[in-house]
Amino acid sequence: ITDKLRSSGLLRTQGLIGGKWTDAYDGKTLEVHNPATGEVLADVSCMGQKETNDAISSAYDTFISWSKVTAAERSKCLRKWYDLLMAHKEELGQLITLEQGKPLKEAIGEVSYGASFVEFFAEEAKRVYGDIIPATLPDRRLFVLRQPVGVVGAITPWNFPLAMITRKVGPALACGCTVVIKPSELTPLTALAAAELSLQAGIPPGAVNVIMGNAPAIGDALLASPQVRKITFTGSTAVGKKLMAGAAATVKKVSLELGGNAPCIIFNDADLDVAVKGTLAAKFRNSGQTCVCANRVLVQEGIYEKFANALSKAVQNLKVGEGFTEGAIQGPLINKAALEKVETFVQEAVSKGAKVLLGGKRHSLGMTFYEPTVIGDVKSDMLLSREEVFGPVAPLLRFKTEEEAIHMANDTNAGLAAYIFTTNVQRTWRVSEALEYGLVGVNEGLISTEVAPFGGVKQSGLGREGSKYGMDEYLEFSSYEICML
Ligand code: ADP
Repeated sequence: ITDKLRSSGLLRTQGLIGGKWTDAYDGKTLEVHNPATGEVLADVSCMGQKETNDAISSAYDTFISWSKVTAAERSKCLRKWYDLLMAHKEELGQLITLEQGKPLKEAIGEVSYGASFVEFFAEEAKRVYGDIIPATLPDRRLFVLRQPVGVVGAITPWNFPLAMITRKVGPALACGCTVVIKPSELTPLTALAAAELSLQAGIPPGAVNVIMGNAPAIGDALLASPQVRKITFTGSTAVGKKLMAGAAATVKKVSLELGGNAPCIIFNDADLDVAVKGTLAAKFRNSGQTCVCANRVLVQEGIYEKFANALSKAVQNLKVGEGFTEGAIQGPLINKAALEKVETFVQEAVSKGAKVLLGGKRHSLGMTFYEPTVIGDVKSDMLLSREEVFGPVAPLLRFKTEEEAIHMANDTNAGLAAYIFTTNVQRTWRVSEALEYGLVGVNEGLISTEVAPFGGVKQSGLGREGSKYGMDEYLEFSSYEICML
């Protein structure tokens, strides 16, 4: 942690309740580590049910006033927050690299991406239009208002410590909601810094609260409170299902962004360079630790050998290193459990006949570094095909026909992102529409943007984030019938 970062005022270690930086009531703390070095970066407040309930109360009180502020005023506050996030791109990027591990350039890229949601929703705040409906009787008038849902509980993961927060909190605040954020305990420092900037932007105290510590206790408190009207979650499918079940007791609105099992389909007619570049981007971003990362690379027989060679060559050039190392493109995995999962999946595949074309073992840098890996002859029944590996491993599976590729791609309970590489226009449409996925990239491996709806089908989730559609997740439609006496 540099002196500049220390003196920036952005290095916060307490929770944020009602605009006040607050210790855990019992004084407990938890350590935040740098995954690349194991170094302890900070001791942050380790909170639970009591602190969560107080944060909910303050969010509720603030909701009463914030929801009545004009849209233009809310928009200005969000715009100011965006400006501050961008002005502190370097410091926020450093925090992300320190606690999450991704290379600094990628981390600063996440700050721009994360901030873009705040900018976009600052603009959308002004466009929460209602509707007037032709009435069924002559003396009646019917109209519809879109009203903010209320207090929002936002539970976020470690892989995008900033962006997963802003794409929930941006639209929530824009609509007039207030939030209690529970960031991942692995990456709370970025969340706390972003919250500090929200205060500096003039977003009222109590509109943004941050609680971290005992995840199940905090989650249960959010679920139990009738004042929390919405839960928005990004993370594992298992926890998402628990939250959805828990939200039933108080019938909350729920948005879930859960696990994926993204197929990346390379057809014989693909442009080889485009396919390699796209697969590299879709697979190795954040060392493979995103829910839209290509999890299975399905390659048609006619191009298999050529593609496998070209991809292996390209992957060999990915420089592995600690995030502040010049030129590093692949950082460490988030923790030991993540590393062991990758190892287990690779070992299982090899034991069943898959072939390591590149990498396939821990990196000589030690810690949680794993070599960027390409594995050939992977089969559909292997763990690498059935579950998210969340690491820098590209498994190649062969297919013969387009129908077979579509069947293999859809043969999963997940349905978040899919990628296809082809130069045939008819095939583009045919296959894109046949894929049971919320997001499809054609000849492109990077498809996340604040202006398009992001979300999954099947067990990959509910609801959409980003874009004009992302606003509706935080709004209720209220219908009014006026009788003109
Ligand atoms: P990942 O495997 O990506 O860490 P998790 O679903 O475990 O995914 O974590 C995503 C977020 O969910 C984190 O903030 C984590 O602390 C939180 N979380 C985990 N278990 C629970 C729970 N029982 N209730 C509420 N939040 C939880």
